[in-house]
Amino acid sequence: MNQTPTDAHPQPETALFDAVATEPLPAELVAELASLARWMGDGNRELAVLGEGNVSARTGAHRMLVKASGTSLEHATFVEVRLQPLLELLDAPDADDTDVQRALLDSRLDPTAPQPSVESLLHAAALTHGANVVAHCHPQSVNAIGCSDRAQALVGGALFPDQIVVLGREQILLPYVDPGLELGRRARTAILEFLDRRDERPRVIYLGNHGMVALAESCGEARRITQMADKTARILRDCLAVGSPRYLPDHLADRIHTRPDEALRRQALAAAPYPDADQAQVVPDRQDATKPGAIRRDVGRLSDGP
Ligand SMILES: [Zn+2]
Repeated sequence: MNQTPTDAHPQPETALFDAVATEPLPAELVAELASLARWMGDGNRELAVLGEGNVSARTGAHRMLVKASGTSLEHATFVEVRLQPLLELLDAPDADDTDVQRALLDSRLDPTAPQPSVESLLHAAALTHGANVVAHCHPQSVNAIGCSDRAQALVGGALFPDQIVVLGREQILLPYVDPGLELGRRARTAILEFLDRRDERPRVIYLGNHGMVALAESCGEARRITQMADKTARILRDCLAVGSPRYLPDHLADRIHTRPDEALRRQALAAAPYPDADQAQVVPDRQDATKPGAIRRDVGRLSDGP
C-alpha cells in the first residue's frame, strides 16, 4: 500500500499498542527526510537506482521513520518503527531470517504499514549511537573503488581539506557482509569502536562491494556528507587511474580537523536551512497521481540542485 509520511504516523484509535507512538511526529523532519530521499534518488546524481538505498530519521526517544522495503528513494514510502525490537534482534545470537522478518513487521507502529527496509537494523544501530539521520546509498563513484581491490584507498587518508571538514578526520570501511542482520551488527561494532577511539560520531561508513552510509545530525548534514563522499570518491577514482593517491600528511590533516576557522565553517554549514525545504511541503501531494502539478514542480526543483 502507498503511504505518505504523514499517514505513516498512526492514529490513536487504530494502531497503537505502545505508548511510544503517542509522541507527535515532527512534521518538519518528515518533510526534510522525504526531500533528502528524493535528492538521493535523482538518477542524475548516480547515487542510487530503482530500489537501492534507504534513509531514516529518529522521530522520538524510541522510534524512527525509515524507508519501506521495495520503494525507490525518489518515490519513497516511509514506515515508523520502534527501535527496541530491532536492537533486541542485533543482540540475539541465534536469530535467523524468520526472526528478522518477524522483528521488522513487529517493529511497525502501524501494523497495516508496509514492511520497513531490511536495512532498518543498520539504521537502528546508527540512530542509537550518535546519529539523528542516516542515509544509505550505492554511489557509482564509491562502488567503483569499493568493488575493486583498492577499496582500502577509501579510508587511506585525507585528499583535500574540505573532505576533512565534512567527512571528519577518519572514516570506516567494512568488508562486504550479508545485508540486514549481519550488516547491522558489524556496523554497530564499528561505530562503537570509532566512538571509543575518536570520541566523536563517524560521518561515513563505506561498505565494500555495496555502497556507503552517512551518519548525520540532520537531513542537511546527511546530504552534505553524501555529496562530499561522492566527490571524494570521484577524485580518488581519477587519482587511481593515473597513479596512486597522495594523501595529506597526518599533521596537516589533523591541523585542518582542529583549526578554529574550520570549526566555524562546520557550525555555519550546520546552521544553514535545509536546501529546498520548501519543496518538501509538497510531499503529500506527490503521492497523489491526480495532482501532477505538484510532481512537476518537485522534479523541476530537483534538477536545479547543486
Ligand atoms: Zn544497500
